[in-house]
Amino acid sequence: MMHAYTLKAPAKINLLLEIIGDRPDGFHELVMVMQSVNLADIVELQPLSGDRIELFCNHPQVPCDQSNLAHRAARLMQEQFPGKGGVAITIDKKIPIGAGLAGGSADAAAVLVGLDLMWGLGLTQAELHTYAAKLGSDIPFCVSGGTALALGRGEELTPLPDLDQLYAVLAKYRSLSVATPWAYKTYRQQFSESYARDPEALEKRRREGHSVELLAAISHRDSQKVPQYLYNDLEKVVLPEHPQVQEIRDLFQSFGALGTMMSGSGPTVFGLADSRSKAELMATQLQTALPDPDLEILVTKFCSSGIQLLS
Ligand code: ATP
Repeated sequence: MMHAYTLKAPAKINLLLEIIGDRPDGFHELVMVMQSVNLADIVELQPLSGDRIELFCNHPQVPCDQSNLAHRAARLMQEQFPGKGGVAITIDKKIPIGAGLAGGSADAAAVLVGLDLMWGLGLTQAELHTYAAKLGSDIPFCVSGGTALALGRGEELTPLPDLDQLYAVLAKYRSLSVATPWAYKTYRQQFSESYARDPEALEKRRREGHSVELLAAISHRDSQKVPQYLYNDLEKVVLPEHPQVQEIRDLFQSFGALGTMMSGSGPTVFGLADSRSKAELMATQLQTALPDPDLEILVTKFCSSGIQLLS
């Protein structure tokens, strides 16, 4: 008798996102450093008869049809493992959507991990990563989480030492979303002349680019240095388009954040602190400086795991 599973699906922030070239598949060659945070959706899976997939989400802007990434993850698993049954997926949405926090990717990762458990498949982490990569570039990272270097489209992962002593204040205007494809397309239009053009040049950019100092700081688990080497190429296209995002970044800086950066394609901006009390103070200062009910401010801690089984 199969039973229900409840999983925690953490959001991610990008400590670094560097665009180094184009790929034949139309995506970009990236160097990213990804970090899981404690802010998480709760995803519940219940077995259903036949091959039905049902999806419920308590957030009105999240589609509950086949376009939901969690639905697509369930369909992929059914295609790979026919006859295992259907599933009802319930998503308790805590991660802001269209935010650069990989909320949809986290939900899809939770479905992959949850169905592996529900169907008793015993998949390895590498097998889960392979299925995850078919669904989206950030999904392999969401499966395993923690701190990781991500190359290629973001699916080639190397785990890095944990940075679980840092706190992040996340700030996003609820009414503002950035479409990830728009951000990358605009970047290509403006900056493609700087792309590495051949395998040697790409390798040189991977070894000698902006990640060098950050990776050194992470290897020493130096929570003061890590925030000094945050980097995100997509800020170059998103910040000029959305001055209110730049403003949040400037405010975090003026409040003495250890570091501040936009996450992924934005528009979420995070400010880092080395204690919960400093993070909470920064959140209060931001709230006071920008008393706009549309601005969502969340205090969260770095976390060292991806999808976690709650029950
Ligand atoms: P990323 O950092 O990977 O670009 P994001 O945080 O910018 O992700 P998401 O919140 O994952 O963006 O989703 C963006 C869009 O995808 C939403 O506007 C929504 O229509 C659609 N979507 C599909 N599935 C989901 C899901 N499970 N949760 C949230 N959005 C989803």
